[in-house]
Amino acid sequence: METLRIIFVIVIGLVWGSFLNVVIYRLPRGESLITPPSTCPSCGRRIKWYDNIPVLSYLFLGGKCRFCRNKISLIYPVVESLTAILFLLVYFHNLRFFDLQFFTDCLFVSSLVVIGFIDYYHQIIPGYITLPLLALALIYAPFRYDLSFKEALIGALAGGGFLLLVYAVYYLWRKKEGLGLGDVMMMLMVGAYLGLPLTILTLLFASVSGAIVGLLLMRFKKKTLQFALPFGSFIALAAVVALLWGQPLISWYLSLYQH
Ligand SMILES: [Zn+2]
Repeated sequence: METLRIIFVIVIGLVWGSFLNVVIYRLPRGESLITPPSTCPSCGRRIKWYDNIPVLSYLFLGGKCRFCRNKISLIYPVVESLTAILFLLVYFHNLRFFDLQFFTDCLFVSSLVVIGFIDYYHQIIPGYITLPLLALALIYAPFRYDLSFKEALIGALAGGGFLLLVYAVYYLWRKKEGLGLGDVMMMLMVGAYLGLPLTILTLLFASVSGAIVGLLLMRFKKKTLQFALPFGSFIALAAVVALLWGQPLISWYLSLYQH
């Protein structure tokens, strides 16, 4: 049974990841998610269903379009595999097969994948993704066994509030935007779903990893401080880590002080 469940979660993850690719590609371009059917970005020929099987079609076609032989972006199989791996990690994290929390966790990590990649490619974090999910997270909170509505609200205000403060201080100091307000809205959503302790952890991970990558880029790629990092991508990664491993990390950290 367990093996069957794992295979099922992986297949669902791959298929859902294939849909997330469509969202990542079309949403920032203002295109419909439903029509038209997928076409090759190079030659415009419609992609047949048997050439649209997650990961497998990419491997079978050698990463090239069947018709024009132009390269298919590696991002497609990467997003599909990543989504499957994340769903599997969520499954092992919850160990309650297909309960409500499994689905909401999957929805949460899916939104982080979408926002993370859109921010990386376009340097925007669409409010029409984050704000409805913020509302959903708050509506869902009273039905959770691990977080109350009040805790969700505190998480949202702390996450969004902290970034808003950073945004304001930077703006007054440098007279331009360091963070975007999209980052602020994203942290409202992340905070509402994770609650205060995991929100603090997310901000910590995102800032530290962002700073390390920023310093490495300046050192080795000769980027200047003017170079804008997609901070939303770092928040996305940090929030996934906080969701999956945050509680044990916090418990371990607190145990260091209990003697
Ligand atoms: Zn083509």
